[in-house]
Amino acid sequence: MLDLKQSVQYIKGVGPNRAALLNKLGIFTLEDLITYFPRTYEDRDKPKKIIDVVDGEDNLIEAVAISNVTESRIRKNMTIYKLTVGDETGRCVITWFNQSYVKRLFKQGEKYKFYGKATNKLGRVEMKSPVFDEEGKNKNTGKIIPIYPLTYNLSQNAIRQAIENALQIVNGKLEETMPDYLIKAYNLLDRNTAIEQIHFPKDFENYENARKRLVFEELLTVQIALLGLKEQTENQAGIEFNKSIKISEMINSLPFKLTKAQLNVLEEIDNDMESKTPMNRLLQGDVGSGKTVVSIVAAYKAVKSGYQVAVMVPTAILATQHLEEFEKMLSKFNIKCELLLGGTRPKRRQEILEGLKNGEIDVLIGTHSLLVEDVEFKNLGLVVTDEQHRFGVRQRGNIVAKGLNPDVLVMTATPIPRTLALILYGDLDISIIDELPPNRKKIDTFAVNKSMEERVNNFIKKNIDEGRQVYVVCPLVEENEELNMKSVTEWTQNYKEKVFSNYRVEYLHGKMKQKDKDEIMQEFKDGKIDILVSTTVIEVGVNVPNASLMIVENAEHFGLAQLHQLRGRVGRGEYKSYCILKYNSLNPVSRERLKIMEETNDGFVIAQKDLELRGTGEFFGTKQHGLPDFKIANLFEDMPILKLVQGVAVKIKNEDPGLKKEENKRLLKLIDEKFSGRVEI
Ligand code: ADP
Ligand code: MG
Repeated sequence: MLDLKQSVQYIKGVGPNRAALLNKLGIFTLEDLITYFPRTYEDRDKPKKIIDVVDGEDNLIEAVAISNVTESRIRKNMTIYKLTVGDETGRCVITWFNQSYVKRLFKQGEKYKFYGKATNKLGRVEMKSPVFDEEGKNKNTGKIIPIYPLTYNLSQNAIRQAIENALQIVNGKLEETMPDYLIKAYNLLDRNTAIEQIHFPKDFENYENARKRLVFEELLTVQIALLGLKEQTENQAGIEFNKSIKISEMINSLPFKLTKAQLNVLEEIDNDMESKTPMNRLLQGDVGSGKTVVSIVAAYKAVKSGYQVAVMVPTAILATQHLEEFEKMLSKFNIKCELLLGGTRPKRRQEILEGLKNGEIDVLIGTHSLLVEDVEFKNLGLVVTDEQHRFGVRQRGNIVAKGLNPDVLVMTATPIPRTLALILYGDLDISIIDELPPNRKKIDTFAVNKSMEERVNNFIKKNIDEGRQVYVVCPLVEENEELNMKSVTEWTQNYKEKVFSNYRVEYLHGKMKQKDKDEIMQEFKDGKIDILVSTTVIEVGVNVPNASLMIVENAEHFGLAQLHQLRGRVGRGEYKSYCILKYNSLNPVSRERLKIMEETNDGFVIAQKDLELRGTGEFFGTKQHGLPDFKIANLFEDMPILKLVQGVAVKIKNEDPGLKKEENKRLLKLIDEKFSGRVEI
């Protein structure tokens, strides 16, 4: 019997050392290994003419040896072997170092294939240390070679060999995971062939088919699971918030008029809250679109109906700021808000916990600190999580479990194209604020290089002299010579001592003590600091309307979505605002990205472009996005399959809600294994 759970260590060619390296990649079992998919492939199948060799890349050529191998000892431990080969389009000089065995291998006049890194400088073609085959042989060429995402010390060859051996153990005995009727209807490859061909595809058509099959399976299970989650909440009895509490009273008390988009969204939320089933709503809106106030109105409704509210945000700075805003708008209604952070002193913390339990506190705002077990509510009715891409689905579940089916409002400023949102957040209803408050001016954005430094500095001075404040964001806390980037502390020092010695400059980064961070942020808010140099800790949600200028150092190191968030820190008040993206060096892709920033202020456009340029993985950042981790699917490239699969999932759930039918047995098993405990179908 095939044991998929057997440890990788005992697979031929692995052993304890390599097993330890594989473990680092999350590969522990035979099954993990065969589902560790290539990152990309090298095509060693179709030779190029020498004239077409691409400079700086790996190339495959087929050419005749037109010299013997020459040998030259250039110093003690270095001997160079050279061979000139040619085809009808040109010549190529091939070089090996210290590999004396190549001397005997080539015969003038015979044809060979060579695969390796080549240069092509105005027709002068060279290749270094290629692998090769005699004509008609396919040992090192003539195939598509998988390239795996790797860790230090583990070579491509080693993992390739391990996977080859693993596939031999499997030897076509994998159980099918997709129902037969789906395989037939959608022309899917069977599982054994798919797994084999994704690693060692015979040709690109086979690769495409293997990939399609595996992406289909991956996305289908997630879709069905999300629909299951949604159904789970829909079938539960939630809180019916008091219909006689009119949110319009609260809305009329606000210092500004809500936009039409905000009002629409609030109507949806109000309906959800009054209905019997628990609300599970995603609130999307670009930076500065005014999401916070929407959650404050929802909190009003909940508290006035006799319930408590938990507001969970990703950073302490943001939590502190939210508390201020909530208090400003809710204290006149006699609603008591509190702040609980990781750093809250034990005595204070105890008081807060008691106030929560006896119901004195109506709204509790905090970070992950809210998830701790002894944080107990008297009657939690509404959970708001802000910037949800930072929390996992699971954490959302943990806070929700502190109430009895409370309503949930998830807010995110990561603008995800609607189609994608609909699918990824399949367990949530979606509301979108697609309009900014009036009088918001476009933030003028410029990408500039080093030569503009002095002009930029003068522009900073001009802004401060007009009474405004400035953010300077850099990617690093500490200096890093290798990357040739200055750090937060270096910039600060440079500013304080040289360029801006007449101004008040302070810095802020994530590694500082909470108390110090709060202090600096407060001083910046109070206008006591002119220039705040910071890492991206200020990325999310920080609101200082007097700040009118955002400078980003080494902007080429940031993702578009992130730059957009950073830019959103300015232009929040009445003042004309600017964003200057400084860069050191640009490749074509980063040039293109900064250009997009210059051209548009629309977060949704930016998100779409970012997806196109970089794919979803990087767009959402690493693990923290709260979306399922995909092993193979790429949500941008695979949009067509995603849409297809969404339809399939809905159909299956309608026809066989509990996946009880014999034909869906395999699906049920698959979802059980993947989401064990998390979703009940
Ligand atoms: P975000 O959606 O980025 O979280 P915020 O909720 O922080 O945006 O709102 C940004 C700023 O705009 C805040 O200062 C907020 O008070 C203000 N604001 C929100 N809605 C309106 C509105 N309708 N009119 C004017 N200002 C508004
Ligand atoms: Mg916000």
